[in-house]
This record gives sequence, C-alpha cells and structure tokens, in this order.
Amino acid sequence: MKGLTEVEQLVKSHLPPLRPEKVTLPNALGRVIAEDLFAPEDVPPYPRSAMDGYAVKAEDVAFASRTSPAILTVVDCVHAGDVPLRPLGEGEAVAVATGAPLPEGADAVVRVEDTKPVNPDDSPFVPVGGKVAILTSVPKGKNVSPVGEDVRKGELVACKGQKVTPALIGLLASCGFWHVPVFAYPKAAVNPTGSELVPVTEKPSVGQIRNSTAWAIAAALKECGVEPFTFEPVPDDVEKLAQLFREVASDFDLVLTCGGVSFGQCDLVKEAWKRLGAKVLFANLPLRPGKAALAVVWQGKLAVGLSGNPAAALTTFDLILRPAICDWTGNRQNKLIPLTAELSTPVAQANGFLKAVRVKLEQRDGKWLAHPLKGQLSTVLSSLAQADGYALILPGNGETKAGETVTVLARSSILASDSMKLDGENLQARR
Ligand code: AMP
Ligand code: MG
Repeated sequence: MKGLTEVEQLVKSHLPPLRPEKVTLPNALGRVIAEDLFAPEDVPPYPRSAMDGYAVKAEDVAFASRTSPAILTVVDCVHAGDVPLRPLGEGEAVAVATGAPLPEGADAVVRVEDTKPVNPDDSPFVPVGGKVAILTSVPKGKNVSPVGEDVRKGELVACKGQKVTPALIGLLASCGFWHVPVFAYPKAAVNPTGSELVPVTEKPSVGQIRNSTAWAIAAALKECGVEPFTFEPVPDDVEKLAQLFREVASDFDLVLTCGGVSFGQCDLVKEAWKRLGAKVLFANLPLRPGKAALAVVWQGKLAVGLSGNPAAALTTFDLILRPAICDWTGNRQNKLIPLTAELSTPVAQANGFLKAVRVKLEQRDGKWLAHPLKGQLSTVLSSLAQADGYALILPGNGETKAGETVTVLARSSILASDSMKLDGENLQARR
C-alpha cells in the first residue's frame, strides 16, 4: 500500500493543466487569474485634486497663515469631469472639486476649510473673478493625486494564480480590463455505480438505497472549484462500466466513480478500467474509513474510484483529493487546515491505517478541544454533516488517550467563526 502523501502527490501529478478563458469583469469574482496582467496606462493618467479646495502654486502661499493670509484671484472653477480652461498664473487660484484635473502650473491644493472668501458675500464658494484668502501654507504636491499614484504603466497588477477579490476587480476596472483571463473550471464526471442505487426522488424498496455519495462528492468538487457532472447510476456490470468510461474519459478533465472498488464480486470498476488497458496508480489506501479507493490513468486522464459508502468516499476525498484539487484550481482557501487539538475522549488506533475521526471542535482556555462524534462508520453521514474536521489518529495497536495532542484537519469555516468571536472579545477588552 502506498503512503497517503505519496498518493496525494501521484494524484496531483496526473491532473491536467487548466485551460484559460475570458470572463467579463463582474463575473471574475472568486476566479483565478490565468496570466500576469500589466497596467496598460498610468492610474490616474493625469494629476487630480484629492480634496475640494483651491489649486495653487505652493510658492504663492509659502508664507500664508490665519493671521497673514495669501490673497489669490480665482480664475477658473473645475469640477470632476471638467477640463481646466487655462494654466494657472502667479497670484491665481482655481477652485477644484475632488477628482478634478489640476490646471497646468498648479502644484498643490489647499483644502476649502483652510480658505476664506475675501468678500463675505461670496461664501461659501468664491466665483470666478473673486478673491480667496489662503490661511495656510502647503508643500508642493499636497492634496494632489499624481500621475500613476495607484499604478504605473507596465506595473504588474494581477499575477497568474491570484484569486480575484473585490479589490482586484476595482483595480482591474481602473486599469481598463473588462475581459479578464481566468482559468476555466475543470470538468469532472461523477459516476455512481451499484445495481441497488435509486435516484434521490425515489423511495427505495428493500435492497435499494438512494444515491447519496455521488451528490456529496459532486458538492465537494464544486467547493474546490471543479464543475461536476453527475451521471445516472450504472449497474454492477463490467461491460456497461467500460462503455461508460470510454465515453466520459475524453470529455472530462477528471473522472470519478463512487462504489465498486472494494473486493466483492460486484466490485467491477478496476476490472472495467483494466479491460480498457488503464494503468493502475493505486488500488487501496492505508486510511480508515476510505481504504477502498482506486486511481488509474487511461489515455492521459486520471480516474479516481471512491467507495460507495458516503462517509468513506468523503473522507478519501477530503484527505487525498481535496488538497490536490484545491492546489490545481487555485482554491487554496477550501483546503482543510491542520490544527493541534487535545482529544476529549480516547480513540482506538488501527494497525497499519491512519484513522480519520470525525470531531467537533471547541475552543477552551486558548486551546482546541476535539470531541469525537458518535457514529464513525463509513455508512454514517449524520456525524460527518456535524463535524468540524477529522482528528488524525496515527497507526498503532493501542489507543490515543483523552488529553493527548492530535492533528485535526479542520474546515476553514471554523477559523472564521472563531476569529470573529476573538475580535469581539478584543473589542470588549479595549472598551
Ligand atoms: P461499494 O463501494 O460499491 O462496495 O458500496 C459500499 C456500500 O455503499 C454499499 O452498501 C452500497 O449500497 C453503498 N453505496 C454504493 N454506492 C452508493 C451511492 N452512490 N450512494 C449511497 N450509497 C452507496
Ligand atoms: Mg457496490
């Protein structure tokens, strides 16, 4: 049996490169940038006022103060969207709004709060031709957004592999990118197999079971940035399975099956792939639950066979496929996060197997406490639906005792809710 790290690397090395596609800017949120993007121009492309006030020459107001203001003539008024009519001369000021282009010759802006109309009738805005008293000196460049303040032409604004956030959307918008190159979602076929499977909408008769595993796996794929296509269940029939694999392998980036990879008479997935001439990468895992698992490569495509048991399939997915797939698609935030926690009740080890025990996490006295949940069988989903993560119990003959430290692979949402709580505590402490 291959080790779990080796298996994860094997899976990773057989995932195909992602295709780039262009999406419009509003649709780029959460996507992953497919190529480095450089600013085609300076942002902003001209010097702009950062305040409502008066554009001046700094040297004209070098000695201005409240007791000895500099008196300037207002020669123009430029709102955002206007173009200055003329350059600024000595002893002149131009009334400017935030965002307005600076007139030529101006090198600073005095905030309106630091000015006063000379004629009180002009309050609050001195008209063109009127006089304004400047009550403070300003250094050159004060309250001015210079050319390229945000980004210089040719500067890297987004890197290949970067996740698109609202701030990046804004930055790309200011640089003029409307069509954004992102990686296309890879497509995965999810094939449930088992003659006993019925659709979710049907009531199973005795001997039948609803197909739950394929839907859970499809959801997990979606969470990791893969577009899943869930097929109708295929009966335990080697010919039918081989036929299906022949059809789907060319159309998908990844092929998954649920069921038919154990060692019973009806477990025919490996046999079907072998008939096609697929190369087997591994045929089981030192993991519990989730021992039954298969990976093959056929015509350059990776196919992974998971257990039909839903909790086992999800455990294999979470421990082996999730990290590899999240790296593949650039959705690293959906990887499980390793935490150190104290086990609250003892757990028996499994000889030769890593045990992934579903736990609820609690924070107590600044430490994580991992509570193993009731119902750890590979058939039981209710515990997994409540779990915050998996406590990893190392292989052995004994038990991991209560109070011992274990690694827990936790869903990242547990950290989000906890950091909010911590923020709340910090706020209270500061008040
Ligand atoms: P298998 O992996 O085919 O040996 O199946 C193991 C167990 O999981 C059996 O009890 C199956 O009935 C059940 N099972 C198989 N496929 C599914 C599925 N898609 N949804 C729910 N249970 C399944
Ligand atoms: Mg089966």
